[in-house]
Amino acid sequence: MSESNSLLVQAKGVRKSFGTHEVLKGIDFQVHKGEVSVIVGPSGSGKSTFLRAMNGLELIDAGSLIVDGEQVGYSLSDGRYREWGDGDWAKFRSRIGMVFQRFNLYAHFDALENVAASLIHVKKLSKAKARERAREQLDRVGLADHSHKRPHQLSGGQQQRVAIARALAMDPDLMLFDEPTSALDPELVDEVLETMKALAEGGMTMVVVTHEVGFAREVGDSLAFFDEGIVMEKDEPELLLKTENPRVRSFLDRVR
Ligand code: ADP
Ligand code: MG
Repeated sequence: MSESNSLLVQAKGVRKSFGTHEVLKGIDFQVHKGEVSVIVGPSGSGKSTFLRAMNGLELIDAGSLIVDGEQVGYSLSDGRYREWGDGDWAKFRSRIGMVFQRFNLYAHFDALENVAASLIHVKKLSKAKARERAREQLDRVGLADHSHKRPHQLSGGQQQRVAIARALAMDPDLMLFDEPTSALDPELVDEVLETMKALAEGGMTMVVVTHEVGFAREVGDSLAFFDEGIVMEKDEPELLLKTENPRVRSFLDRVR
């Protein structure tokens, strides 16, 4: 496989503003197939915006962003910006799984129905096939015995694992995690990190925004520090965690 074929995310000079506030100021970022890229950085540094740009939830203003072979946005040589117009966004997004801080499960559906819903509505599977596939995915995150529970009958950690199963059910090429454990009680964090670790070990390509630097050290192929809309530093986790950059240092010393 050539170098460029193995790139699942290729961001060059990605810029994004909200009004006059420039939130991404030229992001360069690459993720190869099978890699786990972890992102840390202060609140407001653009981490969520960048994740959202990767699955087209935010359109970029300039630069080039290629995700899973699709040009999500790029600027023309005359300076005009062009967004990916010919593709089918819903289909594209189904190839990119996203897990948020808040799980956003349907409260009136049980775990199985939560996972099966998009298989029925987006993938157009029959109900029987969708339920079978959903059961497999719940098993994959260790929740086979909880498939008939509604969200309020599950712990926060279990709910987040249902959200992960729901994303996995779509058979994504890339999984994006936006602070998946930061809304959880401390004793529930590990079960979610273990689920993510198993996914990584199974070869899933993942971009994970988290302040769990232990996860980055154990599972990450790279660790990036975002600051004010740029990637201030990116390296192997062990190396980045030893950085002498005072800005990065003071942040890391606070989250550890
Ligand atoms: P992070 O995830 O690193 O905390 P975000 O990407 O969420 O940072 O936000 C970066 C900045 O962009 C913040 O100042 C935030 O208020 C602003 N921002 C994010 N989304 C929007 C939006 N839809 N409209 C206006 N401002 C936004
Ligand atoms: Mg965020």
